Amino acid sequence: MSLLADAYALGKGQAQNLRQVLRGRPLRPASFVSMTLDPDDVAIAERFLANPADADSRALVEEFESGFAKWSGAPSAFAFASGRESLHAALSALGIGPGDEILLPAFTCVVVPNACRATGAQLVWADIELETFGLDVADVERRLTPRTRVILLQHVFGLVCRDYAALLELAARRGLLVVEDCAHSAGARWRGVSVGLRADAAFFSSEHTKSFNTILGGVAMARDPAVSERLASLAERAPAVDARQIEACLRELIAEYWQHKAPNAWWRGSIERARAGAGPEHLSEPEKRGEWPANFGRRLPEALAAVGTNQLAKLDAYNERRRATARRWDAWCARHGYARPLVLAESMPTFLRYPVLVEPERKRKGAWGYAEFGTKPGTWFTSHTHPVPSQLSGFPRADDAVARCINLPCILPAE
Ligand SMILES: *Cc1c(COP(=O)(O)O)cnc(C)c1O
Repeated sequence: MSLLADAYALGKGQAQNLRQVLRGRPLRPASFVSMTLDPDDVAIAERFLANPADADSRALVEEFESGFAKWSGAPSAFAFASGRESLHAALSALGIGPGDEILLPAFTCVVVPNACRATGAQLVWADIELETFGLDVADVERRLTPRTRVILLQHVFGLVCRDYAALLELAARRGLLVVEDCAHSAGARWRGVSVGLRADAAFFSSEHTKSFNTILGGVAMARDPAVSERLASLAERAPAVDARQIEACLRELIAEYWQHKAPNAWWRGSIERARAGAGPEHLSEPEKRGEWPANFGRRLPEALAAVGTNQLAKLDAYNERRRATARRWDAWCARHGYARPLVLAESMPTFLRYPVLVEPERKRKGAWGYAEFGTKPGTWFTSHTHPVPSQLSGFPRADDAVARCINLPCILPAE
């Protein structure tokens, strides 16, 4: 990177700042990504960029996996290159395949149905409820068929889903497997037990929009030791992420830290952003079309596992900060006439984001969001299979959430 390019990045950053100020917006608004990065994470990324051979150790991944298992209370945990690959591994380890049906919520990210379909199973969609945006147990029960094998329930926005107990009970009664999507909810608990531990299998994500961050990454776990054994052997045989993508993740991590967590160093953010280039791929074009990339099933790279271990050590403190901000959003909602999301009795949520229902025409209006909330709301999910439009119909509450659910940041930049 030349001096000239740095100067160009500086100028471009300054122009962006000027635009923010002219629109009456904060220079460094809360970001959707990487709000849990700190200088110690940046130092790890810099070390591995400078000495890629330092990452040449499986022990880094094992340390992350055993750390994650211990932190959540699971018997074991297995790290993959993404949440979607972790879900696919979990379903495979459970023996799900052609002829089986997986029942899943019609308010999710497209990578979830993709991972399910990649096992060869059929998808059966079910409606959600609008209190925690999880699966609605009554609708699930109506849609079960003799071929249903799995109920895939979700705890989104860091909320423990309203029908958790009823869904577990229904699955037990009907002899079905439960898989929990904990991509938004690392650290959430119900009756003192971490989400994910009551199911047959569960997965987490450390993608850069999630509760803890390795830019790309995920974790799978299972309750039955025989299923865990199969997960272990999938992880053992998993292909590696290619070196260019690992480097892109580490550069992206540094850029996102400077862009979003260092409010007084906008110039450094501009330069690091320009240096990071296009960044790693979060959702490829084939995946948007519903395809499952042939190289998937990959292991979490060692360098990212080292970041994961560092992130994990801070996750409880960041979740505490999120809950404190959520209490402020609660008070704000009460004053302004918005319904608050349900915090299930005996649950400890983590509030990755704070969901609120708004008028449909306002969901995508950034300017309205700034005026109303003083920050830019997120739009998860913008379709039944975010971000890809779906053809699904017959899910009135999921439709409502797609039209009206926005979400507010719960880690605000330091003033
Ligand atoms: C992000 C997300 C996933 C997948 O995680 P990746 O690490 O991006 O593959 C799964 N489920 C939900 C609800 C998500 O938001």
